[in-house]
Amino acid sequence: MNTRRNALKTIALTTGALTLGSRFLHAQAPAAEVPAVFKLPPLGYDYDALEPHIDAETMKIHHDKHHAAYVSKLNQAIAAAPGLESKPIEEILAKLDTVPEAVRKDIRNQGGGHANHSLFWQTLKKSEKGKPVGELAKALDAAFGSFAKFQDDLGTAATKVFGSGWAWLVWKGGKLVIESTPNQDSPLSTGGTPLLGLDVWEHAYYLKYQNRRADYIKAFQSVVNWDFVSERFAKVAKG
Ligand code: MN
Repeated sequence: MNTRRNALKTIALTTGALTLGSRFLHAQAPAAEVPAVFKLPPLGYDYDALEPHIDAETMKIHHDKHHAAYVSKLNQAIAAAPGLESKPIEEILAKLDTVPEAVRKDIRNQGGGHANHSLFWQTLKKSEKGKPVGELAKALDAAFGSFAKFQDDLGTAATKVFGSGWAWLVWKGGKLVIESTPNQDSPLSTGGTPLLGLDVWEHAYYLKYQNRRADYIKAFQSVVNWDFVSERFAKVAKG
């Protein structure tokens, strides 16, 4: 008897939970109709293009799931802030204080996630012997002493990020500097232009490297598309 009563109670509770669940889903449903103002850019190469340094499974999940989620949530936030939909995300992040307070945190997080990853994919290419060229090569030597010292300093900054965040090579105030940001904060929001970003969120490396962030940081240094970063520097430093 007792068991039967318990079973009925369980059914009643479950039904209640389902009702609540469907109400919750219903309340969330309009999100699907939000205009796709921002779109997930293509990766630009195969998921396995960076093997063995960064594995295909990580690249697939990182791009197709994580970056896609930032884009989708950014579009939800933008839908609640009319006027912003016509601006590039870089411009919005550079003037976060002009974003309505109700959506500022979402735009900072989701918009930062979108901008940071859009740059990240472009700065990767399997190129073990890749090095900066032209003006960037000279500027890195001038700013850090040597390319090897720059790599060390970037690695140290990435190692020191507590929890989730990024280490960056940034053009700021007419100088090359290394910075780190927590979460998905962009150097754009503090007056810099990111040239290269090292994603040290666990989602960027955990499948292959687990807790060994230092190994991932070393692997990352083997897959930087220095041609792309050098061209970006040439454009940014000129402007
Ligand atoms: Mn990431």
